[in-house]
Amino acid sequence: MGTTVWIQASQLSRDNSALAPFLRHATRGEGARVLMIESEERSRLYRYHKRKLVLLFSAMRHLAVELRKRGLEVDYYALEPEAHRPSFRDALRAHLERHRPSGLVMMELLDRTHQRDAEALAAAAGIPLRVTPTTMMLTDPGIFAREHRSTKRLRMEQHYRGIRKRLGVLMDGDRPVEERWNTDPDNRRRLPKGISIPAPQAFPPDAITRDVIVIVDRLFADHPGTTAGWSLPVTHRDAIAWVDDFVEHRLPQFGAYQDAMLDGEPLLFHSLVSPLLNIGLLSPLHLVKRIEHAFEQGSVPLNSAEGFIRQVIGWREYMYGVYRLRMPQLARENALRAHRPLPRFFWTTETRMRCLAGCLRQAQATGYLHHIQRLMVVCNFATLAGLEPRGVLEWFMTLFLDAYEWVMIPNVMGMGLYADGGGITTKPYVSGGAYINRMSDYCSSCAYRVRERTGPAACPFNHLYWNFLLAHRRRLRSNPRMGVAFRALEKKSRAEIRAITQSAGEFLEALDQ
Ligand SMILES: Cc1cc2nc3c(=O)[nH]c(=O)nc-3n(C[C@H](O)[C@H](O)[C@H](O)COP(=O)(O)OP(=O)(O)OC[C@H]3O[C@@H](n4cnc5c(N)ncnc54)[C@H](O)[C@@H]3O)c2cc1C
Ligand code: SF4
Repeated sequence: MGTTVWIQASQLSRDNSALAPFLRHATRGEGARVLMIESEERSRLYRYHKRKLVLLFSAMRHLAVELRKRGLEVDYYALEPEAHRPSFRDALRAHLERHRPSGLVMMELLDRTHQRDAEALAAAAGIPLRVTPTTMMLTDPGIFAREHRSTKRLRMEQHYRGIRKRLGVLMDGDRPVEERWNTDPDNRRRLPKGISIPAPQAFPPDAITRDVIVIVDRLFADHPGTTAGWSLPVTHRDAIAWVDDFVEHRLPQFGAYQDAMLDGEPLLFHSLVSPLLNIGLLSPLHLVKRIEHAFEQGSVPLNSAEGFIRQVIGWREYMYGVYRLRMPQLARENALRAHRPLPRFFWTTETRMRCLAGCLRQAQATGYLHHIQRLMVVCNFATLAGLEPRGVLEWFMTLFLDAYEWVMIPNVMGMGLYADGGGITTKPYVSGGAYINRMSDYCSSCAYRVRERTGPAACPFNHLYWNFLLAHRRRLRSNPRMGVAFRALEKKSRAEIRAITQSAGEFLEALDQ
């Protein structure tokens, strides 16, 4: 009898609110029981990147070891290649029969679909389920909804400032430090030639991770990616060390170069903390306080500290609020009526566009692209080429280590593809090749020429960009943030417009074949 705490793979937080009271009892020798399930069925919802599966299973197994050491009994259903591999339903039933708990308690999952599934499973098994509030976000979605319910167009900036004031982060009384809420204008620099890029600290696999790698390689051989060269943290302690390494070696230059891209250098000065944050190996508050502390000690400049904190308590929290407010319709939006199927080269990575090929290969190999690669290469292309949003979403959900419905849907449908018609961002994030050329070194080794606008050798981003503006003139012309682009379009001669539509038409036709 007694209560069972059910912990799923995306809620391994040390301050899991369902677990916390039982941990306190455990220190007094009154252990409680924890249920953890590696479900094969759930692991095949998408053809998830092998590295994501290794991260999840290894982090779960490490947490189980830690909880047992702290006096809790853990009923753990592990994936065994040779044995029957239970689904959530089977494992839950087996647990209930074996231990006969009087009830289940779990922390609310961030993904609504999975939360509803868990509730349905408990109801079908006839066991009462108590759900405790999530501690993995800093803003109560109910408060976000109350503040924004009547707002048609949501904006991140106000939300971000509100959280900074509430948490007192980078504040000087009720004013922002150095009188700056926003350091974005300092943060768009190109990488200087020869800049040295520090390698992140490596966490080689221990015995638990090695076991998991064998299982993932056996059971999920058909999933993309490779498990070779594993070096990510899988415990809370190592995740904190990973952040310390980032703060010391990469954060000082994160701000200035956060939009830059370099072929063959996936991380540059980024943190790669999202896969850890999104499963609870890191707490957003710990992370933000750590960055603020480094700024106060004088070891990082304000543009890096503010630039990073804005991502975590600004964009991340905002996207969760938007997801809770706008689902389920957000996942089905297609305001630009984009219907082109995802080209096969998204999976094979065979395209002559160097920037896209570089990003697609990197995503396949590592399960990671930094923000500008996702936004200004992959999604920029997808928007300009009119790719159907659900296909793009599926590609992201499959490949990315940090992909969860609550964060991927608003990022892809809203920020990436403008499929929600501007509910989340002020304008579509689209550009021609010049932006990619300014912020990266891709163009120097591309088969296309970035300075040519039309014709078979022209950079496809160029003609597709003007073609996109022509196609969506009616919807976007009145957007004040698109004024400069439309004025430039209107200055083009008829012959230029004809050449643009012809080049774009030929390119898109080839794409469809
Ligand atoms: C099309 C698209 C899809 C995305 N999908 C995801 C996703 O599935 N999961 C995910 O965590 N992030 C997603 N992002 C946001 C962002 O690109 C990643 O969080 C970031 O690239 C992760 O790498 P990092 O940890 O090195 O980030 P850094 O550049 O070091 O930034 C620090 C942290 O800020 C947070 N952050 C920054 N921007 C966002 C944002 N727009 N939304 C949410 N959090 C943000 C992340 O937690 C990130 O780890 C997406 C962005 C785009 C444009
Ligand atoms: S020329 Fe165009 S397609 Fe080629 S790398 Fe540059 S932006 Fe990409």
